[in-house]
Order: sequence, then structure tokens, then C-alpha cells
Amino acid sequence: MQDPSLYPDLKAVLEELQQALGAERVRHDAAAPLPPDPNVSAFAPRDTRAVLRPGSVADVRALAGAFHQAKAAGAGLPGLQPVSTGRNWGLGSKEPAAGPVVRVELDGLDALRALDTEAGYAVVEPGVTQKELSELLAGTDRMLNVTASSGHTSVLGNTVDRGVGLRHQRTQDLLGLEVVLPDGAIAHIGWWPGDGVHGKGDGFNPLGLGPSLLHLFTQSDLGIVTAAVVRLLPRPRRQSTVRAGFHRETLHQAVDALRTWKANGLIAGVIKVYDTASTATYGGGDTAGGYVAHLSVEGTERSAAALKSALLAEMAETGLFTSVSSSDEEAPADEDVVAHVVHAAYRGSVAHNERMLASATGAAAERVDADGNGWLFFLPFLPFDGASVVRALDILDRIHLATGIRPGSTVNALDADVIDLVVSFPFDRATQTEAAHRALDLAHLWFGEAGLRPYRLDSGHARAVTGTAGGAEAALQRALREAVDPYGVMAAGRYA
Ligand SMILES: Cc1cc2nc3c(=O)[nH]c(=O)nc-3n(C[C@H](O)[C@H](O)[C@H](O)COP(=O)(O)OP(=O)(O)OC[C@H]3O[C@@H](n4cnc5c(N)ncnc54)[C@H](O)[C@@H]3O)c2cc1C
Repeated sequence: MQDPSLYPDLKAVLEELQQALGAERVRHDAAAPLPPDPNVSAFAPRDTRAVLRPGSVADVRALAGAFHQAKAAGAGLPGLQPVSTGRNWGLGSKEPAAGPVVRVELDGLDALRALDTEAGYAVVEPGVTQKELSELLAGTDRMLNVTASSGHTSVLGNTVDRGVGLRHQRTQDLLGLEVVLPDGAIAHIGWWPGDGVHGKGDGFNPLGLGPSLLHLFTQSDLGIVTAAVVRLLPRPRRQSTVRAGFHRETLHQAVDALRTWKANGLIAGVIKVYDTASTATYGGGDTAGGYVAHLSVEGTERSAAALKSALLAEMAETGLFTSVSSSDEEAPADEDVVAHVVHAAYRGSVAHNERMLASATGAAAERVDADGNGWLFFLPFLPFDGASVVRALDILDRIHLATGIRPGSTVNALDADVIDLVVSFPFDRATQTEAAHRALDLAHLWFGEAGLRPYRLDSGHARAVTGTAGGAEAALQRALREAVDPYGVMAAGRYA
């Protein structure tokens, strides 16, 4: 922990903010770091000096402006670390990459500023959850690209961390951002409705004209995002979920077959393949020691029926699949939580997600960090081919042998070329924390050696720590940071 006397100016700035924002929005102990909050992944708590809970965009501008002014005048202050609902379970929850920080919790900004199901977008603040937005869209011809995490997670928070929904990576839904910059100024970036330039009838153009700034603010520590414009996807007229089991011996061929069907338009959205371990922790049915693939088939009545019949015929022809069923003919068994979650989520609903969270962590959303079973994620991208998946799962077997922690894996095939491999390490926080963190370290090391790198980082393996911040691209990123935030108002994040 840092010596509190290193921040003699912090108290004055926080007291000024208590006046401006209201005392209840500024939590701090003038002389010491705040007591650590638990996190479900058991990452070491970082030095957090204060928690700010703004209630409006004006509050966010005021707090950034106060830090900027004080720093410009030479004050030594910790940087600001924004979170939305802070439910980044498995990757550190609310913990920053490094302390000291002043955390800015944005879930109090919870307005759904606009919902246009005709044009197909919503403008959400950080506190808008996927449950709220998806429920508002029920019965309309639009739907949200929902994730398999809790309904109480933030649409904006997951999107700016480049999370993955059942349709695709959430960045594909991102049209525009409202950002409070480190000096307290506000900027609308990308496509923004009603700004006098864009509006109804104006085709979405998230990249704007010229060099695009949109992704300067995803996986970024260059500002505080106070709203996002997200796309609402057309709801297919007809959707069925096909579930197909297969054995490990045929993993290579089965993945290659799935790839062919994805590449040729038989399957929509993200293909999910759960192994036995992940099925058991997430609460699935019997996998007979193998794998279960979940495939969404959709279109109009006629095209969906034709695609489904073609897919089932092709599957039968391969002789690889031990069981095949479709949601039209056979609803999942009540206890098969995974099948319920995935089927509903393909349709933009999070109705079953809390059951899966409870199965994975043993706790409801608001108690996961305090009481949940231990949970860590490792999230590499792989090429979508059988050989790469076999190679990745062999590494997981080695990690199991080396640490005694059994990783679960879920293949999320995002398109015909890229798999987001979700590796989970469930563990007992009382007895297995050290082993689980060793397993995560080995995953970073061994997958890295195999050239398979994560696309999202946890607070224990920030980019700066893992030494992946070299090269000309990283130097340009640092130069941009210097230009946007010359006084270091924002704390260096996981991706710095
Ligand atoms: C059982 C289970 C299933 C899961 N399934 C999925 C899944 O399907 N897909 C998936 O992607 N994840 C999944 N997760 C992981 C995680 O729960 C989600 O990613 C969750 O949405 C992240 O929490 P949040 O929405 O509260 O975001 P936050 O924790 O609020 O934000 C995440 C990060 O984004 C940045 N950030 C957030 N808000 C701002 C802001 N306003 N300005 C600037 N930066 C900001 C910060 O770096 C922050 O740490 C799962 C977890 C579990 C336990």
C-alpha cells in the first residue's frame, strides 16, 4: 500500500467534490486507502483512495474537471478509474490494474435516453442493464445482442470492454459514445442521434468521416463514457436452436464441420460449444463426457425451415454427432440451464441467465463478489478450425495436471474465422485461490507460447504487466494518451 501522505492534496479535492456533488456521492477516508472490497476472482485488492458515485453527466464533468485543474496546478492525485455496474466477474470485478486510484462508479447514471425500434438503436447510460433493455424490446421486431452473464450487468460497461453476446462481439453494435474527457469537456463520437448532424433517416455511420475515434474509447483509459448508442438487431421471424452432442475423439472433425456450416450461412449468431466441465459448472444436461454444440437457425418461416432441414441432413451425413435435437420438437429439460440460457439469449432474452450465474458462482448477482465461489476467466481468440481447438484444449489438460484446477471451456465461434474461447477456472476461495491463480498464469504463459492471445485482460494481467505494450502501435497509443490526458487525470487501465 502507498503511504497516504503521498496524496496531501486529495483531501481538499474530495471535500470540494462533496460540496459540489453532495456528501453521499463521495466516499473516502482522508488519511488512508478504503477497506478492500472482495472480488469473486480473489485478485489482490489495489489501493483505492476514494469512490465517487456521480448522479448525472454534470457530476462526471465536475469531478473530471476538479482533478484536471488540481493536477494542472501540480497536485499529486491518484488517477480516476471508471466502472459501470462493476460486474466484470472473472476479470477482476471492480479492481483496477494497479493502485492507487479513485474509482468512479457510474451505475447511478441509468437513463435510457432514447429507444427507436424503427431505426434500430437505443441510447443507454452506464447503469442501464441488459435485463431492462431486453425486456423493453420483448414483442417488438428488434432485439438486443445479450450476453450469457447476469441480466443486471451493464450494456455499456460490457460493450466498452468489448464483451461478447450471443450474436457477435458487442463492439459490432456500437454506433456512438458520449465521453467526458480528462479535462471535463464532453464529446459525442461516432454516430449520435439528434446532434443536428445525425438523426432519424440518417444511415448509421459509426466510423464517421476521417480517422475513426470510436475505439479510442473502448478498452481505453482516455475518458469516462457517460452514454452509448447501441444497435438493436432485427428480430428474425423464425428462430430454432439445434443442439448436437459429440465426443472428444471427433472434436477436430466436428469443429471443422461446424465451420463449414457457419461459412456457408446455415448457422446464425455465435455458435456455442460447451465441454463437460463447463456444462457441469454452468448447469447443463448430460454431455456423456463430451461436448454439446448450440446452433441458431433462423430466417423467415420458409428459409428457416429449409436451413434447418439442410443442417440436420448434413449433420446426419457426417456421422459425427451422437445426439441431435431441435428446440421446435424438443424443449430443453428443465434442469438443463445452459440450453435454456442459450436458446432464450439467441432470441435476445436474459430470462434464464440468473440461474446460470447461480449455478456457476453459487450466488445471486449482488452477492457474487462477497459470497460467490471463486471464478477466473482466460479469454483468447483462436482461428476457427479443429486443429486450433484441439491444441487449445490440450493446453487446458496440461494446466489441469499441473495445478489440480479443472478449467472449463466454451467455444464461442463469432464468425467463420474467429473463436472466442471462454476458459473458466472455478475454484474454492477458501482452499484453492493460489492454485487457481497459478492456473491462470499458466494459461497466459502457455497459450502465449502457442501464439494464442487474449482479447480481454484481467486486472492481474494488465497489458503493461505482461510486456505486450511494445512496438510502434503501443508507442502511438501512448502518444495519443499524452495528447488527450497530459496530466494523467485517468488511471492507467488494464489495456494501457
Ligand atoms: C457466469 C458468467 C457468465 C458470463 N458471460 C459473459 C458473456 O457471455 N459475455 C461477456 O462478455 N462476459 C461474460 N461474463 C463476464 C462479465 O460478467 C460481463 O462481461 C459483464 O457484463 C461485465 O460487467 P459490467 O457489465 O458490470 O461492466 P463493468 O464491470 O462496469 O465494466 C467493464 C470494464 O469496462 C470499462 N468501463 C466500464 N464502464 C466504463 C465507462 N463508463 N467509461 C469508461 N470505461 C468503462 C472498465 O475498464 C471496466 O472495468 C460472464 C461472467 C459470468 C460469471
